[in-house]
Amino acid sequence: MKLSVIGAGYLGAVHAAAMASLGFDVVAVDVDADRIGRLRDGAAPFYEPGFDALLADVMATGRLTWSLDYADLADADVHFLCVGTPQRRGSHAADLRYVWDAVEALIPHLRPDAVLAGKSTVPVGTAAAIADRIARTWQGDSDHIPVVVWNPEFLREGFAVEDTLRPDRIVVGVPDGPAGERAAAVMREVYATQVAASIPLLVTDRPTAELVKVAANAFLATKISFINAMAEVCEATGADVVTLADAIGYDARIGRKFLGAGVGFGGGCLPKDIRAFSARAGELGVDQALTFLREVDDINSRRRDRAVETARDLVGGSFRGRRVCVLGAAFKPNSDDVRDSPALDIAARIHNEGGQVVVHDPKALANAEARFPSLRYEPDLRAALGGADVVLLLTEWQEYRDLDPVAVAEWVAGPRLLDGRNVLDGAAWRAAGWSFRGMGREHG
Ligand code: NAD
Repeated sequence: MKLSVIGAGYLGAVHAAAMASLGFDVVAVDVDADRIGRLRDGAAPFYEPGFDALLADVMATGRLTWSLDYADLADADVHFLCVGTPQRRGSHAADLRYVWDAVEALIPHLRPDAVLAGKSTVPVGTAAAIADRIARTWQGDSDHIPVVVWNPEFLREGFAVEDTLRPDRIVVGVPDGPAGERAAAVMREVYATQVAASIPLLVTDRPTAELVKVAANAFLATKISFINAMAEVCEATGADVVTLADAIGYDARIGRKFLGAGVGFGGGCLPKDIRAFSARAGELGVDQALTFLREVDDINSRRRDRAVETARDLVGGSFRGRRVCVLGAAFKPNSDDVRDSPALDIAARIHNEGGQVVVHDPKALANAEARFPSLRYEPDLRAALGGADVVLLLTEWQEYRDLDPVAVAEWVAGPRLLDGRNVLDGAAWRAAGWSFRGMGREHG
């Protein structure tokens, strides 16, 4: 079986390499010539643990090709649509222009028996709209027409290779009738390795498959904002949100995962996905069902305000003339993705208040600089910390967790620290002479 992947970003490039590693012939197309050039050279265009090694392995097999030309996709049995679906400018809705551009470019090259499997995160109803578009433009026999299925992706950046090869579950939404049954059989063949490893494969209708993805992200965002709302209450009462999370997390119905109070969520998925989900609910006349997601979003952005306030407090009420060391630019550790990164947003706000901000990150500095060119970036951790009046830990990279409070106290101008992710041992830092603050905890 031959597969194609359209869009070679964090999702598509990893999916293409992973499928080639399973033995499929894969051709991946992107419109970004620089990205395709790098991938052809075997160089990952982003940082993702394990991806370089996977790429090197599969490039050596000759089973994976990278292309700028849709004609190269023509003989594929299954086309995986993996282009971006960012937030539309000036709106909360998803911007589907890349999806439609890709569909239009693909249609002339589709075989009648091809399956188009959407993996991008899209508003419910998109799969049916794409199927309609194909049906309206199809020149051949209307009984032999490509089938559109939705196969949402649940990978986590930082674990993308592992999650792609061994996901928790696979969801495939197919249309009713024989065409849908045939497409489901094709998808079972594509994922035969995972199915053989007892990974659940759920076949459902297309709207359910589209909704599974946004529902999962809405739940995760809600869980983070729930604990961050508790952090606000803890701050008002002197309670400790980390102990609170530990204690409620022991309840198996609640669970401890995603109860890390801090500066909140960011990235290329959760923020734009909950907004697009709300916008779509409005179009469907069920906006009340998701009004809580507005609150989830507001709680999340209030945490960023709180981090700025706490840091300002630590330096005596104003950032003017103060050197501020920001540890972390990526939206999460083990990634170079800075899309809607809380760390960079907080750094930019402090810069706008007159702080002399220096940002460090082990992997994301180039992306951060492209997004916020006016901030100062320092690749050497010790140099970034040197002379700081206040340190903000905003992305919980392991090397920041491992910092020695006694040694770092020697490098900075003033030992003041905000642990925006609640990952450090506050008692050890205080014992080393630091003014130490967490998020939602006074004494942690
Ligand atoms: P990305 O921005 O990293 O990659 C998108 C790629 O699509 C880019 O390389 C871009 O050049 C390419 N592209 C744009 N228009 C194209 C076209 N017409 N033809 C071919 N290629 C085109 O985005 P991403 O993070 O990989 O996300 C892609 C989709 O997957 C989004 O819908 C996202 O919500 C979803 N998703 C992402 C993740 C993740 O962790 N990144 C996880 C699950 C789902």
